[in-house]
Amino acid sequence: CGIVGYVGQRQALDIVVEALRRMEYRGYDSAGVAIVDGGGHLAVEKKAGRLENLEKLIAEVGPENLTGTTGMGHTRWATHGKPTDRNAHPHCSLDEKFAVVHNGIIENYAPLRAELEEGGVEFDSDTDTETAVHLLRREYTSGQHAGDFVASAYAALRRLDGAFTVVFASADNPGVLVAARRSTPLVVGVGDGEMFLASDVTAFIEHTREAVELGQDEVVVITADSYEVTDFDGNPTGGTPFHIDWDL
Ligand code: GLU
Repeated sequence: CGIVGYVGQRQALDIVVEALRRMEYRGYDSAGVAIVDGGGHLAVEKKAGRLENLEKLIAEVGPENLTGTTGMGHTRWATHGKPTDRNAHPHCSLDEKFAVVHNGIIENYAPLRAELEEGGVEFDSDTDTETAVHLLRREYTSGQHAGDFVASAYAALRRLDGAFTVVFASADNPGVLVAARRSTPLVVGVGDGEMFLASDVTAFIEHTREAVELGQDEVVVITADSYEVTDFDGNPTGGTPFHIDWDL
């Protein structure tokens, strides 16, 4: 399983799919992508099975419907819910304004799901993951930091227990991704006018050799030319920058 993210000047789709391919060796049962364009739209395609199935689907849908320079991708190793198209990531909020990809387990998903359902949210999958995106949308629409994607993402992340890597995207906030890790790995690739996120550096090594490793319980906000690493409360921590000086 693996996670990738991209914010930059180039079209995200090919970069994200290629990065997923480079992480195939980690094993997975489904794959998906989310691409944010500059016009308030978020396109999601996902499919059970091999990456080829997703690529076939993208060819059918038309890659021109997945344009945008912000994107993320996921290969899933199902823990909650069968490996079906419906349970594949990314998962979206009901208004399709937010998307999440996630590796690992959200331990407290059952009480979170009950709480959200009580508030009128209808779930579209059997995953633990989906709770995260509904929490984010709720924060963004009616939380303490309503209208602030990054602050709302932090607020949603603080509700999640478990061992996970999560990335959030927002249709109305192109050019920004918010990612977090508790236990499972997450690395930032620092390019020239572009930033990458991945479970491991093999995903982006062809694009940059400058990387920043996130520690336990850290969050990173990336844009095309910045990254900010903090703890879950937003206090700057910095991460661990390193140079990749080995070859694949
Ligand atoms: N727990 C999540 C799911 O079952 C993520 C699994 C993974 O690590 O890919 O969908």
